[in-house]
Amino acid sequence: MNDLAGKHIVLGLTGGIACYKAAALCRELTRAGATVQVVMTDAAREFITPTTMQALSGRPVATSQWNAGEPNAMPHINLTRDAHALLIAPCSADFMAKLAHGQANDLLSTLAVARGACPLLLAPAMNVEMWTHPAVQRNLRQIEADGAVVLGPAAGEQACGEVGLGRMLEPEQLRDELIAFFQPKLLAGKRVVVTAGPTFEPIDPVRGVTNHSSGKMGYAIARAAHEAGAAVVLVSGPTALPTPTGVQRIDVERADEMLAATLDAVDAADVFIAVAAVADWKVANASGSKLKKEGGAPVLQFTANPDILATVAQQASTRGKPYCVGFAAESENLLENGAAKRLRKGVPLLVGNIGALTFGRDDNEFVLFDAEGSTPIPRADKLSLARRLVAEIAQRLG
Ligand code: C5P
Repeated sequence: MNDLAGKHIVLGLTGGIACYKAAALCRELTRAGATVQVVMTDAAREFITPTTMQALSGRPVATSQWNAGEPNAMPHINLTRDAHALLIAPCSADFMAKLAHGQANDLLSTLAVARGACPLLLAPAMNVEMWTHPAVQRNLRQIEADGAVVLGPAAGEQACGEVGLGRMLEPEQLRDELIAFFQPKLLAGKRVVVTAGPTFEPIDPVRGVTNHSSGKMGYAIARAAHEAGAAVVLVSGPTALPTPTGVQRIDVERADEMLAATLDAVDAADVFIAVAAVADWKVANASGSKLKKEGGAPVLQFTANPDILATVAQQASTRGKPYCVGFAAESENLLENGAAKRLRKGVPLLVGNIGALTFGRDDNEFVLFDAEGSTPIPRADKLSLARRLVAEIAQRLG
């Protein structure tokens, strides 16, 4: 994944124990193709050394505005002029106060004020009592009003042993948020609901019927929609995948649960994308207790599951929204079957793919079916295809 290729990032570190995560963050950014110039405050250097950050970024770390090595002696101007973003991670309460007031009394605070058009992103990291202090919240509002993008913080266990809001986002999450920052905001202000993964239909408390869907395509679409600026709810069957950064995930097992969670979520949605491989049938005579081998081979009776996509599309036809997108996993006659399935499901857009062969893979290829006909989308990794699909949806939304 080279999503930050060509991007030059100034990574600012301020004083906080989350500096230990900044080393991994620097590595994640360079792995994603970015060049990284690290700037450290004096307090940051109490937590991690410039040597570590230089080794990981491949560049000398800037620590002082009094640097005789800069020909014009103005590192605070030079550093951001060719940068695509200034990311401050971790950003301490003290540094937030400086940003809110435009104070410029060390290299990092001075270049934040002098950065011109270079966007500012910050990842706060502090104790929960500090984060919730009225002064810090006041500074936060001011910083956001001035146009900075604030990433996190997350809630959880803190280095001090207390629990609550204030943890810096993880390095992978910050990398993903930076990648998202550079994506076009084609779905800004929109609400998107995505179903993904398989369903699991119980036979008894320990056994069930499921399928090989990995959830990768649906998760990639949820991520791409978030990158495009949408508020995303991901209704997911059982998968082993991490939740895409910034996405609200609701875990379900059975198709009935997926339907209920989806109907709840689509109430306020602008777009619904049904990617889940929902089981067509559930076990009508599922047992409440574990079936015993001694009882002989069970005879299972199946009954049809609700069609989640068709149900939402039916509601949308009277309410005017959400815009519904279905998927078709076809192994043969994709062109004929895809066009017919679009009409049968009652959706404006249906995405055909080559069926079971895509399960678990990292790439895929699409044929889009809409009222105008069909459009092939060539093979690519699932995230690239997801971004393309989001663009196609945004274009149709107008
Ligand atoms: O009918 P078929 O299962 O081939 O349709 C696939 C499409 O319908 C996918 O978008 C899938 O997520 C959705 N679907 C659904 N509920 C079902 C079955 C399929 O939402 N019970």
